[in-house]
Amino acid sequence: MGEILVVGGGFSGLLLASRIPGSEVFEENPSIGVPPHCTGLVSWDTIRVIGSPARDSIVSSYRYIRVLNTAGKDIAVLKPSQRIYKLDRVLLERLLAKEAEDMGSKIHTRARVVSVDFEGSIAIHGKEGFRRAVGSMVAIAEGSLGTISRRLGLSRKQDLLVGIQGYARVSKNIDEDEILVFVNDRIFKGFFGWLVPLGSREAVVGMASSLRSYSNRAFRIYLAVLRKLGYFRDSSLRGTYGGLIVRGYPITNHYRDRVIAIGDAAGFVKPFSGGGLYPASKQVEAFSTALRRSDGGEALKRYSRLIGDEIRSLRLQWIATKAVEAIGVERAMKILAGMGIRSISMDYDHHERVFFRLIWGVLAESR
Ligand SMILES: Cc1cc2nc3c(=O)[nH]c(=O)nc-3n(C[C@H](O)[C@H](O)[C@H](O)COP(=O)(O)OP(=O)(O)OC[C@H]3O[C@@H](n4cnc5c(N)ncnc54)[C@H](O)[C@@H]3O)c2cc1C
Repeated sequence: MGEILVVGGGFSGLLLASRIPGSEVFEENPSIGVPPHCTGLVSWDTIRVIGSPARDSIVSSYRYIRVLNTAGKDIAVLKPSQRIYKLDRVLLERLLAKEAEDMGSKIHTRARVVSVDFEGSIAIHGKEGFRRAVGSMVAIAEGSLGTISRRLGLSRKQDLLVGIQGYARVSKNIDEDEILVFVNDRIFKGFFGWLVPLGSREAVVGMASSLRSYSNRAFRIYLAVLRKLGYFRDSSLRGTYGGLIVRGYPITNHYRDRVIAIGDAAGFVKPFSGGGLYPASKQVEAFSTALRRSDGGEALKRYSRLIGDEIRSLRLQWIATKAVEAIGVERAMKILAGMGIRSISMDYDHHERVFFRLIWGVLAESR
């Protein structure tokens, strides 16, 4: 197996470099893990796939997700089949980088990849100016914008959402075992707000909405709502951070010749929640397994067999998400509540299973 060149040293690129010894990662930022953007909520299945860097980054865990409206009224309780864990995302990326280096992979920071071709050659603008490198394969793990992967036709134009969050001191008693999700179709437009407890007195508070309709005003309104509901006394947050959330799905041809797109850049993201860590982990697991067992075209054929089920699942999730978006997240939840469905068991990583069960019920009711 020759050298793998990895474009982007975020979660997906680093996980891949920790699995394929001798990879070379090119990251445009000066340090690994920063700036942070992600909440870091994952299932135990995801932690199992990532391994010890994920286990060593666990901050807290949760049993349920409680859905409320912005008047503070309970609408439903989601019951995932396994506990949900919050990871320290900066630590996770640093541990993955260390594991990659221990495996003999190299990580270059301040190294921006400006072009990639299908023969496995890339152009890098780094500390020493421009240079080229050639690998046996190139993995494009450049994140949500997907500039290079779209230019090469390895990804479709995905919908993007803006996600913003920060740390808040909580003044009301909260159940440390529950993540709170707030729905309001006027404030969140296609998405929702969240409050993730960190112990009994602190929380990560955030929201997302579509890039087209996002405004700082909506975030201020959401914080004012939480203050009115008594969650905090003042609505200022410590350390606000965020980024772009992908709402899309992978195309079948997200690889060609010597190039593959991975993670957010390829649309490996659960479209309803924007959670990318599970799909990207499964993709990296499939790709690295295929590469360990065979080379070149044979490896890609093997990879395509290994990843097929995940792609089908993400596409179904995308169709279901579009249906919920059309109805409105709040409205859909209210219809379910009106039908007496207030306690919903779910698979945290394969939303299509619960969606189709519920959408069928909602459509039947709203006719
Ligand atoms: C607000 C928010 C909350 C989220 N919460 C969750 C959550 O709770 N659970 C979950 O599973 N997922 C969550 N996600 C999604 C998750 O963060 C992403 O799916 C995940 O980070 C994808 O990893 P990636 O490596 O594909 O992309 P990224 O993490 O974006 O990494 C891409 C890297 O490539 C670098 N790069 C880009 N272009 C170039 C270039 N040309 N040359 C060199 N380097 C380049 C970037 O600097 C970056 O470091 C959240 C996202 C956001 C925005």
